[in-house]
Amino acid sequence: MAAPIFDRVAIIGIGLIGSSLARVIRRDNPATHIVACARHADTLASVRRLEIADETTDDPVAAVAGADLVVLATPLSAYAAIAARIAPALKPGAIITDVGSVKEAAIRDIAPALPAGVHFVPGHPVAGTEHSGPEAGFAEMFADRWCILTPLENGDPEAVAKVTALWQLAKMKVVTMPADHHDKVLAVTSHLPHLIAYTIVGTATELGNDLQSEVVAYSAGGFRDFTRIAASDPVMWRDIFLANSDAVLELLQRFSEDLTALQRAIRRGDGETLHKWFTNTRAIRRSIIEAKQA
Ligand code: NAP
Repeated sequence: MAAPIFDRVAIIGIGLIGSSLARVIRRDNPATHIVACARHADTLASVRRLEIADETTDDPVAAVAGADLVVLATPLSAYAAIAARIAPALKPGAIITDVGSVKEAAIRDIAPALPAGVHFVPGHPVAGTEHSGPEAGFAEMFADRWCILTPLENGDPEAVAKVTALWQLAKMKVVTMPADHHDKVLAVTSHLPHLIAYTIVGTATELGNDLQSEVVAYSAGGFRDFTRIAASDPVMWRDIFLANSDAVLELLQRFSEDLTALQRAIRRGDGETLHKWFTNTRAIRRSIIEAKQA
C-alpha cells in the first residue's frame, strides 16, 4: 500500500461525487482520517451506515479544522458562502480543491476568500450518474474517466501534484487546462446535451394525455436516453447553467442555426444534406468508442 498523501481530509458535500471519493480514500488509504460534512442529519446518518468516513458533522468550520485537504463537493451555488465560512478555520498550508462542473465560477467564488498560504486547486472529475446522495456513490465511478484540473496561474505545483495523485488513485486520467477553456469544452460535451434533454422531455410532458402514455410505452425509440439525462439533479443543473451562461448561450446560438438548417433541409426534401450530416455525426460516435469513452 502506498504511503498516505494526506493525514486528514474533509469532504464538504458528501453526495454522489463526495461519497464516491470517500469510498476511493477508504479503499486505497491516501488519507488516514476522513471527515464528511453535509447539512441534513439523514445524509450524515447514511454516511455513518455506509462507513465511508471516520467522522461526520453538519458544521463546515468544524470539518476543516486540522485538515490537510478540503474537498468542496456541494452544488456550485453553495461555494461562495462555504468558502467565506471555512476560510478563517483552514490550516496554514492546507490544500483546497473542488469538483464543480464549471471552473471559472468556482474560482470566482472560492479563491478571493482564501487566506495566503492555503493552496487552491480547482478540479472537475468528469464522471457521474443521474443519481444523487451518498447511497448512489461508488468508487469505480471515476475509473478511466478524465479529471480536469484548472490550476491558478500562481498555484502551488506541489499541491497540484498531490491532487493529481489523489484522482489517479481513483483511476482517473488527469489533465490540466485553463478554466475558461474547460468551461467552453464542457458546454459542448455536457451542458448543451443536458439542456436539449431537459427540453425534449419537457416538451413531451406538455403533450396531450393519450400521446403521453404512448411516449412512455414506446420510449425505447431514442426518448428513453433523453429521460435518463433529464433525470439529473435539478439543483446541480440549475447551478451549472447559471454559472456557465456565457459559454452555453454562445453555443446555443450556433446550435439553433444548425437546427434551422436541418429544419430547412427536411422542409425542402433535401435528403442529401440530411444524409451528409448524419454520416458525419456517425463518425464522431465511432471516434468516441475508439477513445473508450462510450
Ligand atoms: P449531490 O449528490 O446532490 O450531493 C450534494 C452534497 O452537497 C450533499 O451532501 C448535500 O448535503 C451537500 N450540500 C448541498 N447544498 C449544500 C449547502 N448549501 N451547504 C452545504 N452542503 C450542501 O451532488 P453531486 O452530484 O455529488 O454534485 C456535487 C458537485 O459535483 C456539484 O458541484 C457538481 O457540479 C459536481 N459534479 C457532479 C457530477 C454528477 O454527475 N453528479 C459530475 C461531476 C461533478 P445534504 O444532503 O445534507 O443536503
